[in-house]
Amino acid sequence: MKFEYQEYNRKATDDELIDDVKRVAKEHCLPSLSMHEYNAYGSFDNSTIIRRFGTWNHALELAGLECRNRFYTELELFNNLQHVWMAKGCQPTRRDMDNKQYSTISSGAYMRKYMKWSNALKAFVEYINQDVSDDSLYEVNSETRGHKTTRDINLRLRFKVMQRDNFKCCACGASPAKDPSVELHIDHIFPWSKGGETEIDNLQTLCSKCNLGKSDLT
Ligand SMILES: [Zn+2]
Repeated sequence: MKFEYQEYNRKATDDELIDDVKRVAKEHCLPSLSMHEYNAYGSFDNSTIIRRFGTWNHALELAGLECRNRFYTELELFNNLQHVWMAKGCQPTRRDMDNKQYSTISSGAYMRKYMKWSNALKAFVEYINQDVSDDSLYEVNSETRGHKTTRDINLRLRFKVMQRDNFKCCACGASPAKDPSVELHIDHIFPWSKGGETEIDNLQTLCSKCNLGKSDLT
């Protein structure tokens, strides 16, 4: 139990408590916070927070942080990992998963499921390499008349295109791995509106600048 300084007749408001939880998470770039971590850096004791909000997870929720030990489906874990990988332009480290700038699920959730970060990466790569013919890629609806594919490029296909292009812009070679401000897009080489299909051979990786330049031309 931590000794807390308190002014006489003054009790911290709910907002002050939650703001302090937010502050600690922000200062340490953590998507979630354990009671132990909070006690190390917080201005109050975790017991004060729990007395006020009932549970630690409830306080985290109010602070807009990820709940501890939340159960994620494998697909949620993979989708998040995929976003981080594409934003970074290279294989993420365990530490990258705790960077809120890229990741919405902390490394702890992966460790709970896979025990080791390398196991999580192996499971993810296996998932990515599965045959894609069974997913929504070839779904045909009224909007896809004249096409055998939808205009939307699903997440897995996006990833495969970027992987093939080494997470670099095909036009100028820019890569978020070298310059974190670079944002990669997936572009239809032959436009979908003109009959081009959403197939890996008709897709390429472009940085946002080159992609914008291309759409200005057409
Ligand atoms: Zn470019």
